[in-house]
Amino acid sequence: LVRIEGVHKTFGQHHVLRGIDMTIKQGEVSVIIGPSGSGKSTLLRCVNKMESISAGRIHVRDELIGYREVNGQLHDLNPRQIAAQRREIGMVFQRFNLFPHKTALQNVMEAPIQVKKIAKSEARRKALELLEQVGLADRAGHYPAQLSGGQQQRVAIARALAMEPELMLFDEPTSALDPELVGDVLQVMKDLAKSGMTMMVVTHEIGFAREVGDTLSFMDGGVVVESGDPREMITNPQHSRTKEFLSRVL
Ligand code: ATP
Ligand code: MG
Repeated sequence: LVRIEGVHKTFGQHHVLRGIDMTIKQGEVSVIIGPSGSGKSTLLRCVNKMESISAGRIHVRDELIGYREVNGQLHDLNPRQIAAQRREIGMVFQRFNLFPHKTALQNVMEAPIQVKKIAKSEARRKALELLEQVGLADRAGHYPAQLSGGQQQRVAIARALAMEPELMLFDEPTSALDPELVGDVLQVMKDLAKSGMTMMVVTHEIGFAREVGDTLSFMDGGVVVESGDPREMITNPQHSRTKEFLSRVL
């Protein structure tokens, strides 16, 4: 479903992604780990064209993300075309960026009504179903400030799912949470994986990688140093940098 080929990204002189190759099949969960500054967030942001890329190609379901290719040259898609591609790709960030003046239900209903022009009653029905799915049916009328961080993050997941994306990107969705709230969010992500969602997940939760991941990639310095079966890689990392990193987070 996702094909990342030779992706480079520079910010000015700073060469942040140095040739990333990665493929994710439909229904697979690809977990990405790595030290701070290794380029994990940048990579995810390139996949939904929140960042432009300096070289390479990213395809989602055989569609080139963010660009149109003419005689080997890439030209930016226009904002309307980029927005259309993003609709297929849900993203959940470290910081739950819910609309503070809207209830959980309104947060989840918003995009389908505004963007997909779905009838309000239908959007509402769907939103309630999604809140139920993330275990928050009884919090539909609460505002973000009245919810715990973990609950807000689950609303953020429901909100992303409301657009019926074919791919979900998670950027350290649990790392801003109090430890006792992490489990509920990971459970929602596990259920989502089990339901067949294709997911790219940046996380420091090695347990999640081991249990749910189909592949694990270790990034350092803008490259994928090592990738493979999560269980194998965690028990028997091949690269010294992977070993060193895992010994710090395990
Ligand atoms: P963390 O684990 O801390 O979230 P990360 O692996 O997600 O780290 P990125 O956020 O992708 O790392 O950043 C990679 C590098 O790119 C960092 O050195 C960062 O300073 C730099 N960088 C990221 N965004 C920008 C930007 N908009 N402008 C300039 N440099 C940037
Ligand atoms: Mg990051």
